[in-house]
Amino acid sequence: MIVKKIKEIRQEIPENVQLIAVSKTKPTSDIAIAYTTGQRAFGENKVQEMVDKYAELPKDIKWHLIGHLQTNKVKYIAPFVHLIHAVDSLKLLKEINKEALKNNRIIDCLLQFHIASEETKFGLSPEEAKALLSSEEYTTLQNINIAGVMGMASFVNDDTQIAKEFGELHRIFTWIKSEYFTSTPGFKEISMGMSGDYKLAIAQGSTMIRLGSTIFGSR
Ligand SMILES: *Cc1c(COP(=O)(O)O)cnc(C)c1O
Repeated sequence: MIVKKIKEIRQEIPENVQLIAVSKTKPTSDIAIAYTTGQRAFGENKVQEMVDKYAELPKDIKWHLIGHLQTNKVKYIAPFVHLIHAVDSLKLLKEINKEALKNNRIIDCLLQFHIASEETKFGLSPEEAKALLSSEEYTTLQNINIAGVMGMASFVNDDTQIAKEFGELHRIFTWIKSEYFTSTPGFKEISMGMSGDYKLAIAQGSTMIRLGSTIFGSR
């Protein structure tokens, strides 16, 4: 099932959209099966789980941390993480920079935006992003690279609303790029779309979809 699902999804999505296989709560044996299809990008939302799976699995896997990250846990993933999707404070960015420096790495990060109608404490507003990116401290961070933006749409059945929220994230991306990253080709990712809404996300310009249950089954 896993192999068939991944192949189906690859067939239906454009080539410029990257598939992140979200393997949270699933055993390493499931990841190993997905790996046989050539899948290398896997997403986890818990630090400890990602560290354990990293230790067990092939080292050419690209690990994406997609969930909220606490500053005191950055050190555990800094040696190997490929992309941190949910950065929503300067404090966290500074900690990632510090640990990246210790590991002699530059770590790619995405800024998470709050685009859903639901109340959540995670994700930046455009104003907060503006304050972060124009701060003096941000410009001193040499070991992080902001590669784009990430967001989650509301958990609703209203396609129009979801499309609108994804469209909003795309507009935020375009605005940030034109304001802060004009000469930075590395700022290019829009991480949006999960199992229930990835088609809407792709229609709104997603470059990375994060699919869990549709590949690995319900959790
Ligand atoms: C769990 C999770 C996903 C995948 O969700 P599915 O609905 O299983 O595809 C994507 N993004 C984030 C941030 C997640 O936590």
